[in-house]
Amino acid sequence: MEMRYNEIKTVIEDSCTKVGRKVSDVTLIAVTKYVTIEETKKVFRLGIKDLGENREQGFLEKKQALNHAEINWHFIGPLQSRKVKQVINEVDMFHALDRLKIAKEINKRRETPVDCFVQVNVSGEASKGGVTVDDCLTFIEQLRPFQKIRVVGLMTMAPHAEDETAIRQVFRRLRQLRDEIKNQAHPHAPCLYLSMGMSNDYAIAIEEGATHIRLGTILVQPER
Ligand SMILES: *Cc1c(COP(=O)(O)O)cnc(C)c1O
Repeated sequence: MEMRYNEIKTVIEDSCTKVGRKVSDVTLIAVTKYVTIEETKKVFRLGIKDLGENREQGFLEKKQALNHAEINWHFIGPLQSRKVKQVINEVDMFHALDRLKIAKEINKRRETPVDCFVQVNVSGEASKGGVTVDDCLTFIEQLRPFQKIRVVGLMTMAPHAEDETAIRQVFRRLRQLRDEIKNQAHPHAPCLYLSMGMSNDYAIAIEEGATHIRLGTILVQPER
């Protein structure tokens, strides 16, 4: 795992250099959903302080087992309404806000404001979560009354395309949308960040402005 981590760091550096960005502006989130608690501890020992899980049970198990104040815990998958109560006060950043119903539930259950990314389905694939590009501004407007929700950025998942251009266009569109919302300077939605880029496409995502990349397979999968 250490070797893969070093390779990834090199790719991050190279991508940043290519477009004149600082490495410190990109947060690597290790997605540990595929692996055990033991493997997750190894990830932490490598010095990775941002961990991500996409299911309530895995999230709570790992958080309880690792139990370290230094770790930032990212919930990257959709939250189920009836699970919000158990999970939301354990989360540092929630990456998949795309429904008013969940926003209401978070607002009700969360004790202090939580940093959220609004998930946007840029590619329009039916299998993906997220609000549409056209609905994003309206959705963010609708979040204004929820005191416990702070929209810190936008999140997307690129299509599983061979074609790099298609992937790049999705990231570029998300960035434009982020800039648009950021420029509107909503107090509840500073919208500074871009959570985009996974194992297959993180180099492209960094070139297009990703501030949070979410890496699972390439970092933690044993068969690689
Ligand atoms: C699983 C997952 C990832 C990590 O995907 P890899 O391709 O394994 O790097 C990133 N984001 C979300 C939302 C996920 O569910």
